[in-house]
Amino acid sequence: MSSKQSREISFDTVGQHEAGVSTLSVHAGEQRQKVANSITDPVVLASTFTFTDTQSIINFIENDEDRGEYGRYGVPGEQVVERKLAALENAEEGILFSSGMAALVGLFNAKLSSGDEIIFFDECYHRSREYCKKHLSRFGIVTRQVKTGDYAAMESAINSQTKLLVSESPTNPHLSILDLERFAGIGEKYQVETLIDATLATPFNVQPLNFGIDYVVHSATKYLGGHNDLLAGIVLGTSEKLADIRSLRGVTGAVNSAHNCYLLERGLKTFEIRMQRHNENGQRVAEFLESHPRVSRVLYPGLPSHRDYQIAKETMRGFGGLVTFEVAEADWKATSKVVDRAKLARIAPSLGGVESLIEQPLVMSYWGYGPEERKSFGISDNMIRLACGIENSSDIIKDLEQALATES
Ligand SMILES: *Cc1c(COP(=O)(O)O)cnc(C)c1O
Repeated sequence: MSSKQSREISFDTVGQHEAGVSTLSVHAGEQRQKVANSITDPVVLASTFTFTDTQSIINFIENDEDRGEYGRYGVPGEQVVERKLAALENAEEGILFSSGMAALVGLFNAKLSSGDEIIFFDECYHRSREYCKKHLSRFGIVTRQVKTGDYAAMESAINSQTKLLVSESPTNPHLSILDLERFAGIGEKYQVETLIDATLATPFNVQPLNFGIDYVVHSATKYLGGHNDLLAGIVLGTSEKLADIRSLRGVTGAVNSAHNCYLLERGLKTFEIRMQRHNENGQRVAEFLESHPRVSRVLYPGLPSHRDYQIAKETMRGFGGLVTFEVAEADWKATSKVVDRAKLARIAPSLGGVESLIEQPLVMSYWGYGPEERKSFGISDNMIRLACGIENSSDIIKDLEQALATES
């Protein structure tokens, strides 16, 4: 570990954690002087790494030397991204996975055994819920769900088998914001570990570890990569808590190619300036939508009308680019016409990239679910989810204006 640290960044005079977000995202985790004196990191395309002789293998094993061995245990470019993201999150360590789901699954599989229980706040990414309910259950792990933000219900669902409390913040697509200190406090009180999927926040807007949360997970596919061109995921926390997750990842192999690591490293260079624009666009678009006569409800934590506005304002730097809204007096079909009329925002799932994306959750993620089930997940027929990219907010608003105009 210490050898890794010393090769890290040499702007130590600034003090790594006092450095600004962009300084960290540009420089942290990288060696100052690189291969061939290149300013950018090399993309090392190797599935295996050579040893000069037998003794060097023995040295590697016995001294836990920091070098490549075999691709499934990690490639050089991956370490750079892991250190960069750890610096941005103020975490001791990060473990990169091939997707956000692989990161969540990697953590669950390393931490949970038959008989254990986990408790979720119920507004969550539908695939996270699916993995726990449909698959972890096959291995004897029980998933309980309580209403998002109902801390008393979370507490009373805890028993001696409970191993993990899980939530997103902000949640998707309702953008509920957790009181992270309270959430971490419950975990501490009952000696149960806590996990926050902070994909929608990013370390620019909130750093859950600073509130006492044990694990942070991000889908790096979203804001961290930021260009809708890669999938990746990361788990962050202390080296001690992450050791078994890293070791299992080496067995299961949900790792990234060298090219993918480089794309993520490159995307991260502009992380802060992209986030500033996403935050600005989200806020402006939410305010525009709230004032529009054809919009009956807007869910955005930066609006005083949002249930969690107060805690969001106290704990977050900004609220991201995702805005959820409902079209007044529209059934699902009339709502889909608003989506179809969008000319700037592209119709697609995902969020956090430079391109604005628009979708109707009923169609994109909950098609085939019954009305009662959709209602229980809070997915209404007239709901639209807009993930603002980094285009100019005036253009996103103009596009929405024409998409919302009633047909003549
Ligand atoms: C997208 C997303 C995931 C899954 O990430 P992938 O990279 O698509 O596997 C998990 N949680 C949240 C909140 C997400 O938005």
